[in-house]
Amino acid sequence: MKEKPPGPRMETKAEVQPEPSEAIELEPGIYQLRSEKPGSHIYLIKGDTKNVLIDTGVAAKFTVLKRRLTELSMRVRDINLIILTHEHYDHIGATAFFHRTAVVAAHRLAANKLELQDEFVTFRRYRDQSSKPFWVDVWLEDGSIIDLGNYELQVIHTPGHTSGCICLYEPRAGLLFTGDTVFAGGTLSEIAVGGNVSDYVNSVRRLSNLKIKQLYPGHGRVSSTPDEDLPKAIVYAQTMLDDCKTFFEAFIKTRKLQDKLGSAFGYWTESQDYKK
Ligand SMILES: [Zn+2]
Repeated sequence: MKEKPPGPRMETKAEVQPEPSEAIELEPGIYQLRSEKPGSHIYLIKGDTKNVLIDTGVAAKFTVLKRRLTELSMRVRDINLIILTHEHYDHIGATAFFHRTAVVAAHRLAANKLELQDEFVTFRRYRDQSSKPFWVDVWLEDGSIIDLGNYELQVIHTPGHTSGCICLYEPRAGLLFTGDTVFAGGTLSEIAVGGNVSDYVNSVRRLSNLKIKQLYPGHGRVSSTPDEDLPKAIVYAQTMLDDCKTFFEAFIKTRKLQDKLGSAFGYWTESQDYKK
């Protein structure tokens, strides 16, 4: 039996920032709870039997989140399931406030980092001081299905931005919740700790094979043109890969030049020492 993490601390008045966010109904029973940075957008899905939050934003904005839920005639304990798109502080921060009554799910590569409180990867303590630890009840895999009756969420593992990134695909309505994997216009995130470019290329290619009508990202605007966005995202991901190659080719050339110059002046460079 795991010991329950300590309860989250409510934010002080000084920590509560003015918040321009609002709840927008995107599809019947699906709401976007908008947030400016810091803090990701949060999506609420009112399922036939379960209510789901996709991401929880930062802990410091929990009061705002609670207010948005109240506006939709919901309480914190009405949320049954929280699905985290990845392990970053701005998507997970308020999760502990729901943990007494909601099940928490994330991809296993994100879940491992969250449970071990890998602050180097999550930035939780560094960037979101009031965030509290929690454990992940359900460790998701690529292909997992969450059946809410009126909606079905398919888990697509999309490593790249981080190793634990997932997108959630609703095939009947053609909806894709992307977290930080891809934004409107085909923009991609940075390669954060634990991520890599080549996985990012593959992940975006996989997404482009889906029939998507609406793209719901973790930041910025939603997009009704994923058919245009995803090809752009593939080009952008491939460009990142090519830029890496160019960078390392230039780096190697510089090292070779350094070696030559070092020899010419009679120095034993570090790389020559390796050849012994
Ligand atoms: Zn992120």
